[in-house]
Amino acid sequence: MKLLHVLAGSLTALTVCLPLSMASASEAAPVIGFSIDDLRVERWARDRDYFMAAAKELGATVSVQSADGNEEKQVRQIENLIAQKVDAIVIVPMNSKVFSAVVEEAHKAGIKVLSYDRLILNADVDAYISFDNERVGYLQAEAVLKAQPTGRYYMLGGSPTDNNAKLLRAGQEKALKPAVDAGKIKIIGSQWVKEWSPTEALSIMENALTANQNKIDAVVASNDGTAGGAIQALAAQGLAGKVAISGQDADLAAIKRVKAGTQTVTVYKPLKLIATEAAKLTVQMVRKEKPAFNAKLDNGKKQVESLLLTPVALTKDNVDLVVTDGFYTKEQVDGK
Ligand code: BGC
Repeated sequence: MKLLHVLAGSLTALTVCLPLSMASASEAAPVIGFSIDDLRVERWARDRDYFMAAAKELGATVSVQSADGNEEKQVRQIENLIAQKVDAIVIVPMNSKVFSAVVEEAHKAGIKVLSYDRLILNADVDAYISFDNERVGYLQAEAVLKAQPTGRYYMLGGSPTDNNAKLLRAGQEKALKPAVDAGKIKIIGSQWVKEWSPTEALSIMENALTANQNKIDAVVASNDGTAGGAIQALAAQGLAGKVAISGQDADLAAIKRVKAGTQTVTVYKPLKLIATEAAKLTVQMVRKEKPAFNAKLDNGKKQVESLLLTPVALTKDNVDLVVTDGFYTKEQVDGK
């Protein structure tokens, strides 16, 4: 509320200077609510920072909310943003399936809704932006398969409430299918990791190792956080670096593991790109301009106009891309 008051003051000053034909106050200086599943996770804090910087450049103001991994809290926070009469709400949903009603409420209040990174299902969202998640899954499994073309595979999926987890799995299965069909590899087990929790991944991996007398040759893990948990379980059995394993996000710890040889691959998704494009797209929607989409995704309610960006697989050979791309400094990557 306070923020809006301050903003309203500065808007009055601003609108006075604009020609009559020019946009409304909202269009001139949009107010955006950014509702994030969990800011305690490394990547989302970076998404927030890049998004806020890009929004500022475009003349918009952002109010950020973190639901700390709690779906009820996230719904309440979004209702609050609606009550504050923001112009658009950008959502990283904790649970893809619980936002139908709140999106409808937002629309009744004339507020645009952008689904960020994770697709909100069964809801009338205005647009979706993400990296091509099926491609991310494909890249993960492809790199693991290259490092370990035969043997016993374990599938460590993401959060069962995150639509991305399913898209990743689809891409992973596509990459592995020819090797499965040819009998070169065997999938010996598969689990979803609740809320993408690294500790949960650790205990799933411990149990899988015990159940299989440590006979696991490769793990297709769906992000770096869960890969980190699984690698801890592998290390306890002296298997870190011997079992091929994937991840995604280019988390700093994962980059170090890739360099050290205990993680085979991470998938790098330039967060500055998605955040900047998302800010642009949101402001365009408020200004009633037409954003450039490149895909349509079925979310169970409609074909959602989407912008899907391209991810990059990073192995030991090309991991330094994160430095040349400015994602980390050389000191960060080389530091202990
Ligand atoms: C994102 C990943 C992230 C995971 C856990 C997924 O939806 O696409 O980048 O690691 O959520 O936060």
